[in-house]
Order: sequence, then C-alpha cells, then structure tokens
Amino acid sequence: MYHVKEAFYTLQGEGAQAGRASVFCRFAGCNLWSGRDADRATAKCTFCDTDFIGTDGANGGRFESPQQLARHIKQLWPANAGSAVPYVVFTGGEPLLQLDTPLIAMLHSEGFEVAVETNGTLPAPAGIDWLCVSPKGSNPLAIHQGDELKLVYPQHDAPPEQFAALHFRHFYLQPMDHVAQHADTIHTTVAERNAATVAATTAYCMTHPQWRLSLQTHKIAGFD
Ligand code: SF4
Repeated sequence: MYHVKEAFYTLQGEGAQAGRASVFCRFAGCNLWSGRDADRATAKCTFCDTDFIGTDGANGGRFESPQQLARHIKQLWPANAGSAVPYVVFTGGEPLLQLDTPLIAMLHSEGFEVAVETNGTLPAPAGIDWLCVSPKGSNPLAIHQGDELKLVYPQHDAPPEQFAALHFRHFYLQPMDHVAQHADTIHTTVAERNAATVAATTAYCMTHPQWRLSLQTHKIAGFD
C-alpha cells in the first residue's frame, strides 16, 4: 500500500533538472518530523515548509499496488508530449519510506525516468535514474553517492564542507526559505532575511566553485 499526499504535473523548479516537465508524486510521512507544528521544536528536521500529512491533496490517495500507482502517475503525464521522456519525481515527506523496486520497475516499463528527492537518511532501492540527496542537519546520511547533492544553506549543523568529498555529480546550495514562523520578526522581515540568505549563498558559491546556486524557480515564477 502506498500513501500519496498529492500528485501533479509541473516543471521541476530546483537544481540540475530545473525547467524539466515532471510529474511530482509526494508521498505522505517523513522519518524526521511528524508534520505537526506541536512537534516541530523537537523534530530532527525543523525548517520544513511542506504539508505531507495524509492523502487528501490533489490526486492523492492510497494505492494498493505498484500497477495502480504507476497507472495513476501515467495519466498525469500529457498524452501529446511528443519525444519528451516521461519523468516522475518522488518527493515527500520522505519518499524512501515507501518507494520500492516493484514501483520503479513498473514505471520503467511505462517508459518513465524515475527521480527521487530524499533527505538521504534511508537506503535507496536499486534502479533510480536521478537521485537527489538533500541533507537535513546532523542526521546521518545512509546515501553517500548519487546524481545531485542539494543542500539548503545555511544550516549550522550541516556546513557544505561536510559533504564536499561525497560522490555526487552535482553540488547545489539552495538558500533557506525563511517562512514567517522562522523569521526573527523583531529585527528583520522575512523578505530581508531571504535577501540576506541569497546573498550569503551566492558569496559561498563564488568562493567555493564546486557548489552551484539553486533557486526555487517555481516560487519565483509562481507555479507549484
Ligand atoms: S526531511 Fe524533508 S519532508 Fe522531512 S521534515 Fe525535513 S524538509 Fe520536511
């Protein structure tokens, strides 16, 4: 049984695949936070801005089998996509709590490339075509290689230096998005803090060229 919070067709907004047409499939649940605000202070990941509780989002639901979920994902990919290779991005929550080899195999048989955006704390099943790890704080990584390491910056307990020697093809730094509850509203506005964080991230990438700047283009352009 797979629990999916929501699924939708969009463009990938971040990292090396930014701009690519994608079906996003957001699994419910995460191993680093319950998703409830009451638990945020004691969570292993404290800056999440995603609702991953339940199965009540757009195109969400419970799927009994890999066939059922693969069929659901396929019908979100446009019928008139021409030569574009169908692409699905599994995210969450933490997708590696649920993604397994039968589902990957079923999507491959439907012609999909399978991408994952994970916090990297759980082992990954074989067969993933694009593996993006986004470390969260001091939570130990179970995955040390992949296609893309995308680090939200800054995290006092996860400095970029800690990950620079891992075996990834691309290294991205993405400025922390200070949503209202995280901002110090006494001294700065959310916009001021975000601008300062983008500037600091840019400066780090310029002095450490192994890292590239990743902006959340979906928020800039205004799509999901
Ligand atoms: S690991 Fe990802 S989904 Fe889980 S709480 Fe952190 S940001 Fe949210």
